[in-house]
Amino acid sequence: MSWEENVRKVVPYTAGEQPVKKGIIKLNTNECPYPPSPMVEAAMRRAECDDLRLYPQFPEKSKLYDTLVSYHGLDKEDIFIGVGSDDVLSMAFLTFFNSGRPVLFPDITYSFYDVWAEVYNIAYLKKPLDENFCIRKEDYMGENGGIIFPNPNAPTGALMAVDDIEEIVKANQDVVCIVDEAYIDFGGVSALPLLKKYDNLLIVRTFSKSRAMAGARIGYAVGSRKLIKYLNDVKYSVNSYTMNRMSLELGEACMQDEAYFKEICNKIIATRERSEKELTALGFTFPRSYGNFIFASHKNVRAKEIFERLKENDIYVRFWDKPRIDNYLRITIGTDEQMDALFKALKGIV
Ligand code: PMP
Repeated sequence: MSWEENVRKVVPYTAGEQPVKKGIIKLNTNECPYPPSPMVEAAMRRAECDDLRLYPQFPEKSKLYDTLVSYHGLDKEDIFIGVGSDDVLSMAFLTFFNSGRPVLFPDITYSFYDVWAEVYNIAYLKKPLDENFCIRKEDYMGENGGIIFPNPNAPTGALMAVDDIEEIVKANQDVVCIVDEAYIDFGGVSALPLLKKYDNLLIVRTFSKSRAMAGARIGYAVGSRKLIKYLNDVKYSVNSYTMNRMSLELGEACMQDEAYFKEICNKIIATRERSEKELTALGFTFPRSYGNFIFASHKNVRAKEIFERLKENDIYVRFWDKPRIDNYLRITIGTDEQMDALFKALKGIV
């Protein structure tokens, strides 16, 4: 017998490429094309190296925690902060999806969900999106072990109305429902008001997209005091000091600059609207996007070919060779200049 037989074997999530080459146009991982707020830069300069000798504060004792509580008008016990929303979601899978019944999520969605389900041995069922890439709420009404979906969905960008989300949460009060709002700040309507009515709802947010801080790894979950307590119990059984000192401080500085946050979100929305027109003129179709990306398919040229040719031009977008979406590209919204370079390259290809 070999030790290898007893290894936990998993197929890991494939994150988008992070090329080191300078000067490329990076539209492949939904990062923000603008820098973080100048207040974050100032906080970075103020940071003391000697502070690194000490373990960080627990997130719930940090200023960032208090700021998020008051920003969302929550009770003190209703937030959990983690190392990007991936950490928050991973802990939530481990904590809440423990019934033996299958957890439900869409067939086309954030491709980390089935990876967490596999690594934690959680049964799951994928529910097909309809032909317009929208979630069919009826699919989430039967017996299940929990529900998770992003809103807006990724990589499609499609938004579900809060009333429809409420129907799902209301019909599933015997399980935990997670709404992943990674992209909600680009024109979507948040399900946060539902938290007052439902103690089985967890909403997950990130600083990686609309707050331009993917490199700092900050995410958080908002939910009832009971949910957050269970989440913390599991998290503190895995790793006590997850959030590093710098991230807690820089996240707090970021939250102080609401004007800048709104400004970059509005710029991205304006560029997305312009990009929709340009892409349509080039022969692409796509569902209406409420994220900082567009999920587009061309009428004549296969997505894989466009993807490869763009890469030769140092323009990176995202392509998945998977059923139903293998003729689509997910294009992150960059600056206007980056998008113009993309349209120019696309004109040459299609
Ligand atoms: N949820 C969704 C839907 C995403 O697309 C991403 C980004 N890959 C995440 C969560 C995780 O983002 P982060 O860990 O940077 O917060």
